[in-house]
Amino acid sequence: MLPNNKRKIALISVHGDPAIDIGKEEAGGQNVYVRKVGEALARLDWSVDMFTRRSSQEQAEIVEHNYNCRTIRLTAGPQEFVRRQKIFEFLPEFVTAFLKFQREQQITYPLIHTNYWLSAWVGMELKKQQSCIHLHTYHSLGAVKYKSVKNIPEISQTRLEVEKECLESADLIVATSPQEQEHMRSLVSDKGNITVIPCGTDIANFGRHSRQDSRVKLNIEPEAKVVLYVGRFDPRKGIETLVRAVGLNEVKKQPHLKLIIVGGSTPGKKDGKEKARIESIVKELGLEEVVLFAGRIEHTELAYYYAAADVCVVPSHYEPFGLVAIEAMASGTPVIASRVGGLKFTVVDELTGLLVPPQDEQALAKAIARVLLYPAWSRQLEKDARKRVESMFSWDGVAEQLQQQYLEQLSEVEQESLLPTS
Ligand code: UDP
Repeated sequence: MLPNNKRKIALISVHGDPAIDIGKEEAGGQNVYVRKVGEALARLDWSVDMFTRRSSQEQAEIVEHNYNCRTIRLTAGPQEFVRRQKIFEFLPEFVTAFLKFQREQQITYPLIHTNYWLSAWVGMELKKQQSCIHLHTYHSLGAVKYKSVKNIPEISQTRLEVEKECLESADLIVATSPQEQEHMRSLVSDKGNITVIPCGTDIANFGRHSRQDSRVKLNIEPEAKVVLYVGRFDPRKGIETLVRAVGLNEVKKQPHLKLIIVGGSTPGKKDGKEKARIESIVKELGLEEVVLFAGRIEHTELAYYYAAADVCVVPSHYEPFGLVAIEAMASGTPVIASRVGGLKFTVVDELTGLLVPPQDEQALAKAIARVLLYPAWSRQLEKDARKRVESMFSWDGVAEQLQQQYLEQLSEVEQESLLPTS
């Protein structure tokens, strides 16, 4: 075991605050990942500080989570919400605030694990200024994302350059799926060190309720056929494809059909506009009686929704990993997902669910009808889904794999420092 001062780590997530409510605009998988990895590392006896940008004056500067794990909010730019496309210019201020915090606390973090390209820039800057090991998780790759969006933001060129430089210069890149690793190699650079460690999920929370109890709790009739979507309102999440699939005859004709859409939104903001657009499609298809918008739901409560559902659909156009798929699988709910990105890794076609081409409502409708029509087969999918998550995607298992990489990196540096200088 390393002496205690060596087991300090800074997780940096400039735009994804690990301490805020998840499930609204710009608060999704990355926030969950950083928070859960941080807490699980603390359980393994690491002292974990998670750094993010303060986005409101009301927010506490330091939030203590469990023992040895805290979120630290640094001031960089205005103390208000800033869209991630606009944050780059405030990063030098973030680096200065980080260095000041280190000086005041008399800490120099030997390990810095950054998340998303904005934090990658911060990590690279810090490495120029102090001796530290830099690890990085992308969460989303510009080179992949820009292929599937219509409006490419102005900042895209900077993002692509930072992502390439980070891949080539960080001590280690953590890809969350073999598909992401492949994208890095084919679209970003053939240089740099990559290892694959997936995202995880809370297998004690997701999977503790029965379908029957969950339906009683949520007031859903026992004979209902429940199709579930969980996630942000964002066009790339493909909610439109799902609603249109449910509107097709083979699904729509199922008796007691319910489509529950879980996710928060703010009227007038980007997610509020997407929700309004989805509502208008629901109306256009005459599905008002079928579709229920449940709003943003906490993880503990969300466990009931997954358990109550017959099938969870992840219809994304692009998905680097997709936590929702493994949360549903942990809850023993089969998943129908688009055959894209990390979903091809987490969902095993015909074993834990079904994979369908993205933006293809006919294929999606066929898959939903299949799961709803064959309950015995669906029960088998449920069992295999849970088994897969237990064996591969628990947060504690993920943290152990990360720890192994951290320790290897630290021991390499130690060995180098023992080498005689010529
Ligand atoms: N989520 C939540 N409440 C909601 C909607 C979503 O807690 O109302 C969580 C969801 O459980 C998952 C995360 O937000 O943990 C979404 O992560 P994912 O990787 O699926 O998508 P992202 O938001 O990163 O694109």
